[in-house]
Amino acid sequence: MEQPSPHVDQWVRYAACADEDPELWFPRDPHEQGYPKSVCRSCLVKDQCLDLAMAAEGSSSHEKRYGVFGGMAPADRARMAANARRRNKRAAS
Ligand code: SF4
Repeated sequence: MEQPSPHVDQWVRYAACADEDPELWFPRDPHEQGYPKSVCRSCLVKDQCLDLAMAAEGSSSHEKRYGVFGGMAPADRARMAANARRRNKRAAS
């Protein structure tokens, strides 16, 4: 099987959400994140998708992150970013 390219314009065609309503990935109610997360779980390009979201969001707070990417909600990604910052700080000291 062909492997997804690291370039977004190449891997996006493998997205499991390609034929879904994009609004489902941006629920106002966090209790509605279950469906997009379940689709992401089986997505062939979830790692690339999550990497792209994390790079784009940088060290943004939870409130400045939107949508489900790579199976992770804004709060999940904010925690991941905070953990990465702590690891980097520890490694640098
Ligand atoms: S991981 Fe989720 S949001 Fe990202 S491309 Fe796949 S289905 Fe879409």
